[in-house]
Amino acid sequence: MLTERHGEKMSNSSHSLTTDVLVIGTGIAGLFAAMRAKEMGADVLVVEQGESGFSGLSVGGTHRLRPVLPEDDFDEIMKAEVRENEYLVDQDFQESALRETWDRIQDLVSFGADFRRGDDGQIKMYYNDTLYPEYKQKNICWEPMGSYKHLLKVKTETIRRGVKILDKVLAVELLKSKGKIQGAAAFNLINGDFYLLKAKAVIIATGGFCGGGSVYQSLTGDGIAMALQAGAELRNMEFGKAETCGMPIRGAGPRWISRLLNPQEQEITVTNSKGEEFLEKYELGRRMEGRKPYGPPFRVELAAMFQEIKEGNGPCYIDFRAPDKESRMREFWGSYNDRLVTEVRLTGVSLDKIKYELGLVFGHCQAGGIKISPNGESSIAGLYAGGVATDLCGVMQYTVLSGMMGSMITGRRAGESAARYTNDQSEVMIDEEQLESVKREMFAPIEHKQGISADEIRLKAQKAWLNIDLRTQARLEKAMEEFQELRKEASDIVAQDYHELAKCHKIKNYLYCSEAVAAAALGRQETRLEHIRLDYPLTDNKEWLKWVIVHLEQDKIKSYLENLPMERWKYKPEPTVENRLRLKEGTSL
Ligand SMILES: Cc1cc2nc3c(=O)[nH]c(=O)nc-3n(C[C@H](O)[C@H](O)[C@H](O)COP(=O)(O)OP(=O)(O)OC[C@H]3O[C@@H](n4cnc5c(N)ncnc54)[C@H](O)[C@@H]3O)c2cc1C
Repeated sequence: MLTERHGEKMSNSSHSLTTDVLVIGTGIAGLFAAMRAKEMGADVLVVEQGESGFSGLSVGGTHRLRPVLPEDDFDEIMKAEVRENEYLVDQDFQESALRETWDRIQDLVSFGADFRRGDDGQIKMYYNDTLYPEYKQKNICWEPMGSYKHLLKVKTETIRRGVKILDKVLAVELLKSKGKIQGAAAFNLINGDFYLLKAKAVIIATGGFCGGGSVYQSLTGDGIAMALQAGAELRNMEFGKAETCGMPIRGAGPRWISRLLNPQEQEITVTNSKGEEFLEKYELGRRMEGRKPYGPPFRVELAAMFQEIKEGNGPCYIDFRAPDKESRMREFWGSYNDRLVTEVRLTGVSLDKIKYELGLVFGHCQAGGIKISPNGESSIAGLYAGGVATDLCGVMQYTVLSGMMGSMITGRRAGESAARYTNDQSEVMIDEEQLESVKREMFAPIEHKQGISADEIRLKAQKAWLNIDLRTQARLEKAMEEFQELRKEASDIVAQDYHELAKCHKIKNYLYCSEAVAAAALGRQETRLEHIRLDYPLTDNKEWLKWVIVHLEQDKIKSYLENLPMERWKYKPEPTVENRLRLKEGTSL
């Protein structure tokens, strides 16, 4: 193909590669998937849009891992974790995965990862509180934290085992023939070369999706959207945090500070302009005696903040001021917060003087994704998934099996299942018609003379996201309409170069994922976890022990409800119907 643009000729050639298992993404999930598939005897190829070992959330996720130790009371932990996940976790998965956590830590140790150790040389445990005062999760921390070197060690081991990795290759579409996945189509971000990646099985390990806000813009949910378009089901897309943050009042201090800045401190307060701690009025926002909270579900904070502003009590503030903040943060976060501390110092303030205006930093960092079985199978033949591109079988954030741990476990399982599957598959069949149209569509934005840019679409989509953060039927329906409109607008999307071409494909994925969140949020007519429906404030354990499943039907996103098999599972909630947004007794607004 030869393209002339802005007086410059861009030529690209085509490559065709064949493998047993194709892994997309080199975060911790992709690397664990690749190693396991290879160990099972499959030929494995991995593609990464960035530079492997330096890309993805896994580079940032270097603070802690939560294990269950062999000597722990397993039943107690199962019970508490099911509760932390508010009963939506697949208990079959959780049971087997919790038993696996210590082995995965041992894998990392064997690859050379350094964990913080006590004077006795043993890995040191740190404890953090959960929603339930009597249950504390164990954390182990990497040393030094905030470093990318642990992922590099995993990458080195993956290559040592004979896995091939192709960097700077962006997967754009899954290829399918006779109902089975047969590989993917991709292009090289530097020179625009086209890649036909033929594979008997594909593992998606492309990481998460983050809607709204301006942080984590690269988390466009590529793998989730590719799977959706190939016919796979998504689950739990309505869950995810809308994280609030502090924004500088008069320009002093860093641009924003995470609400999670120091979850261990009681001193952090959220107040309105009258100095009242307004969250205390809400059952879900209340501080619990003796608990050092992460904070309430952030959407409660948002809804409460909007209410305060409406009543003339705005703006609201988040007050991080507390004596000796820096050293206490270091105790908990280690060098993880070094960058923040430097940033704070550069702006001429000190951490213990920061009082910020309360704002929204990002709309949604999802907990849902590709629906997988406990073995990492998606709902279509030949497609497997691991890490936060999946729904982690219903695991929610801040639990033992979320983040890096859940990603290692699901990645490894996907690798094993995919390798097994390839044993029974003969040749890869490519549907030539699909291939031609995929290739044409892939480079179309470069051919377009004029049209809308990916950045313009992004800005419009971010506005639409407010209707997802403050959830009511009408707002969510509006959001769905807006995303559908934007998908239409995106058919004219234009790119000047291959970097922009990547953005064009990514923004389309972002729109699919955003619409999937809106559809799932519409589907769940109750309040649970971070899914706060202002029009359905009840958490209903009688009617809503259900998953919302999202899928694509003739390019329209649809949802349906699936009952959880509670009769088969051991850990059941009380059949309560609670108003989670109710006001604390004796308080009025
Ligand atoms: C600041 C921060 C702190 C965190 N702290 C912790 C923590 O302390 N403990 C914890 O357990 N978890 C933590 N997490 C979460 C944890 O990092 C993630 O859950 C985990 O790393 C996800 O791994 P993954 O392999 O699924 O995704 P990722 O690591 O995001 O990997 C996905 C990879 O896929 C690539 N990719 C995406 N799309 C494409 C495409 N179309 N084609 C080719 N390649 C593609 C990406 O470039 C990336 O390399 C943190 C995350 C962040 C950002």
